[in-house]
Amino acid sequence: MEQPHPMGSPRTRPDAVGPHAGPAAEDAETAAAGRRDGRADQRRPGRGIGPEATGGTAAGDLPPVVVAGGGIVGTAVAFVLQRSVPVVLVEEGDFPGLGETRDAVGILKASVGHPVLDAFAQCTWAFAVAQHRHPRSPLRLTFARLDGHPGRAAFVDHLLLLDAMYLAARRAGLRLLTRTRVMAPVLAGDRVTGVRVARAGGGPQATRPAADRPAGHPVEGWDDVVPASALVLAPGPRPESLAMDGLPRGFASRFVPVKDVVIPFRLPATVETPPAVFTRRSLIWRFALGIEARTLLAAARLEGDWSPPSFDELVALVEDLVERFDLTGEAQLDRVRTLIDLRGPDGLPFVGAVAPWGGARGLFVAAGFGLEGLSTALGAAHAIAAAVLADLADRRLIPGR
Ligand SMILES: Cc1cc2nc3c(=O)[nH]c(=O)nc-3n(C[C@H](O)[C@H](O)[C@H](O)COP(=O)(O)OP(=O)(O)OC[C@H]3O[C@@H](n4cnc5c(N)ncnc54)[C@H](O)[C@@H]3O)c2cc1C
Repeated sequence: MEQPHPMGSPRTRPDAVGPHAGPAAEDAETAAAGRRDGRADQRRPGRGIGPEATGGTAAGDLPPVVVAGGGIVGTAVAFVLQRSVPVVLVEEGDFPGLGETRDAVGILKASVGHPVLDAFAQCTWAFAVAQHRHPRSPLRLTFARLDGHPGRAAFVDHLLLLDAMYLAARRAGLRLLTRTRVMAPVLAGDRVTGVRVARAGGGPQATRPAADRPAGHPVEGWDDVVPASALVLAPGPRPESLAMDGLPRGFASRFVPVKDVVIPFRLPATVETPPAVFTRRSLIWRFALGIEARTLLAAARLEGDWSPPSFDELVALVEDLVERFDLTGEAQLDRVRTLIDLRGPDGLPFVGAVAPWGGARGLFVAAGFGLEGLSTALGAAHAIAAAVLADLADRRLIPGR
């Protein structure tokens, strides 16, 4: 089981950090400040792009594993891998967690309804419960019924969950590059040896080859190459990041857009709303009670595109809800949200090496979580980490296991 970490982000819980939080308090404050004003990448000047980003761990001179994407999935991958090898986490945004993860409702499920996903979910669940039980962790779960089973789901501050993994990895030596986009792997033959990155806001110079630049150039706005022993792509619902060099031909087209249209229903004052999550009442509809007082969240899961429903489609969805489930209450159409993600091949996330599919060796992908990424992130991260470490051991870059 993962060890609990006493840490948290005062951004979402002002009471979460204090003297009792020990060394984690500074981390958490820095994390929160970074999220607020985008200073995250300025914390360690001169330790960003380039060979110096290699970092030091038990793996000695091994070039780092680069993880592209600092959502819950990429952060979980970095968290697991950093225990064994140096890792550089590269995030295009200002700070980890500001992609799709930021908008998550925050429902954790102990099981998701498929053996592979259930194994992934069990891992995340165990970590979150351990955090919840740790007296110094700010992460607290509100347990809920899952399809009638008590305590099998929970509502969580999902950014605190991400912070718990990120800050632990950082203490273990993780390097973070923010406002930096992974453009492509650098290949020697069919093998990843580095990663080409571009700093945000670079203008025309951002594409200037690293070899052409004068010595001592400012990093901001330039291309560069990070040496890498492997590259893990965890880009969330970003088809363009699933279409870069080194991936199998047509790889991005194997992912299907999915969306949840979430309709809040204001319930009559007389209705009790003990925390509960329902996923099995209908093929399309899922429900959550107890996240907001007197409110039922009804989510229609649809496939094929990411466009928000038209007003007419929304009304039809509400009529369907009212008729099928005999709902009493008021649909709050002004608060409807459309959540988007990709679903991977065969309805499952793609979690593993792309080499068996014709992609480059040393290139790995964790994507297509189909709106279950919070629940499944840590288990998927363990699976990717095992694949990366097996590859490095095969190449005798680290001792075999
Ligand atoms: C509103 C909403 C509610 C949800 N509620 C739940 C829930 O209750 N429970 C649940 O289990 N799931 C939920 N989900 C789904 C869950 O949030 C996602 O499955 C999960 O956050 C996906 O995480 P991710 O790390 O794959 O993607 P993201 O969080 O999008 O992270 C990917 C990151 O990669 C970065 N990136 C992309 N390409 C590059 C590149 N080339 N270089 C550098 N960086 C790059 C992006 O900037 C982004 O920050 C919800 C989703 C939404 C939108």
